[in-house]
Amino acid sequence: MSSAPVRHDPPTEPGPAALDDTSAFADLGLRAELLGALTALGYEEPTPIQREAIPPLLAGRDLLGQAATGTGKTAAFALPLLQRMPDDRPGGAPVALVLVPTRELAVQVSEAFHRYGKDLGARVLPIYGGQPIGRQLRALDLGVDVVVATPGRALDHIARGTLDLGALATVVLDEADEMLDMGFAEDIEAILEHAPEQRQTVLFSATMPARIDGLARKHLTDPVRILIAREQPVAGEAPRVRQSAYIVARAHKPAALGRVLDVESPTAAIVFCRSREEVDRLTETMNGRGYRAEALHGGMSQEQRDRVMGRLRTGTADLLVATDVAARGLDVEQLTHVVNYDVPSAPESYVHRIGRVGRAGREGVAITLAEPREHRMLKTIERVTGQRIAIDKIPTVADMRTRRLELTQGALRESLLEDDLDPYRAIVESLTDEFDLVEVALAAVKLAHEATSPGSDDEEEIPQVPVRGPREGRPEAGGRGERRGGARPRSGGTTQVFIGLGRRAGVRPQDLVGAITGETGISGRDIGSIEIADRFSLVEVPQGVADEVIAGLRGSTIKGRKATVRRDRDGDGGGERRFDGADRRERRDRDFDRRDRR
Ligand code: AMP
Repeated sequence: MSSAPVRHDPPTEPGPAALDDTSAFADLGLRAELLGALTALGYEEPTPIQREAIPPLLAGRDLLGQAATGTGKTAAFALPLLQRMPDDRPGGAPVALVLVPTRELAVQVSEAFHRYGKDLGARVLPIYGGQPIGRQLRALDLGVDVVVATPGRALDHIARGTLDLGALATVVLDEADEMLDMGFAEDIEAILEHAPEQRQTVLFSATMPARIDGLARKHLTDPVRILIAREQPVAGEAPRVRQSAYIVARAHKPAALGRVLDVESPTAAIVFCRSREEVDRLTETMNGRGYRAEALHGGMSQEQRDRVMGRLRTGTADLLVATDVAARGLDVEQLTHVVNYDVPSAPESYVHRIGRVGRAGREGVAITLAEPREHRMLKTIERVTGQRIAIDKIPTVADMRTRRLELTQGALRESLLEDDLDPYRAIVESLTDEFDLVEVALAAVKLAHEATSPGSDDEEEIPQVPVRGPREGRPEAGGRGERRGGARPRSGGTTQVFIGLGRRAGVRPQDLVGAITGETGISGRDIGSIEIADRFSLVEVPQGVADEVIAGLRGSTIKGRKATVRRDRDGDGGGERRFDGADRRERRDRDFDRRDRR
């Protein structure tokens, strides 16, 4: 990597040195215990949704927020909710209930509550279908402050009298559009009927179809409205940069980053992370993998920062791993690549980051590593910037080998053009007495290749996460009823998956959708029609993800039971033969229902 001169911009933004740890969070009115947790997590500043949502939520207002996963919305509601928790909580009944569409999200959100609320002694319990109910009963019995639940299981507990909503001060509906899509509308209504009338209600949704508006009008009182991902401010402003993204599971991100960097061979690259903690971890990992990475974050002294920038300038470092705050006001000339290690929390932040390359007519490349669940945020960024982000396949082991050979070939060509080969002539001449000239050349190429390419420690295939089709063109409202069954038109084929549990086992459409979305990276919207017979169910999924769905369901339980899961042998529609009369009637009614809605 060549030297990368560094210049500091005039301070149009606050310079990182001026930033005091979590001061921006303190300005929002958060208490010391929460600030301490945020510092420990390495959060340097609030994301836009946090900046806008935390003050009104602390003041007890209702809130209607449009924000997707990846915007930091969980902390936006969790922090105020923890702060508003009374210090003396003698009773066992929860003061807050968060409803989420899937078990995966229930676990994630409660982990977030634990992380933020550990110094406040918050007792948080996730409850979702598929988990043994006994454990949940014992935990509820001992007393909890916050329950994070999927609607079906929450209602089960309410019906049993084991979840008392009488003390609730706040109810959060997270990913409300997903919950409605999964057929949870009636469950949500029933749950809210059991909650005290005097309460704070918070609703977050990635999209705002009419049904969400209706839900908000019915249950929210004079809510503050927040829309993250505004359409106007940055449209057309994004620089012309080659933009691409890779969909990759979190565990494979460091390997994927290494591969992408190897293929791209940047002159100078900056990798953006969300928190200091991640900056430190990734710097260490990348150094361990043979890259010369330097960390840059807001917690470093000016002297440390200068030293890092010096190493980048002189070419002794390849990569700068930084938080947004630390990279402010920093302009690295010859920077060719910006990598978003996570999808940025707002389109504005994406635009700002990638604006660091492609300046003054130079070529710029922006690469984003997105987790499957962040795919939606990518789409939002595309919409806001009006530019396409191509989804690329992570280079395979074979791609890497080919690329490394190409690099060796390029290096040899350069060497041949330089005029400094004479000192080696005697070696070649003496070897050709004994060996064929081509063989001598082959051995020399092998040695050169091995000396410059990393060893074979990166031979593991990174699973390619199937990329789902674009969601645009999907009717926002009314396209699907509360009951599942309206197969969405899609371009690829679909496959029916057979699950050996049906109505008799108490299986409902939302249990199947919850199990599938919880165990795979697939969104509820990608699931087509669901047919539930007495003893089995059939679920329609896109062909490309059928194996992932089958593997995911085999590894989990539905209604606490293991089920036979396989491709439906009779194929599309043929499964009808196994339905009894009542099942057929129900299926016919649904078909009518489906036709009506088209
Ligand atoms: P969410 O949109 O709630 O799913 O959050 C996305 C990710 O951003 C999570 O991994 C959070 O830990 C992280 N995150 C949330 N707020 C911040 C912040 N202010 N600074 C850095 N990371 C954050």
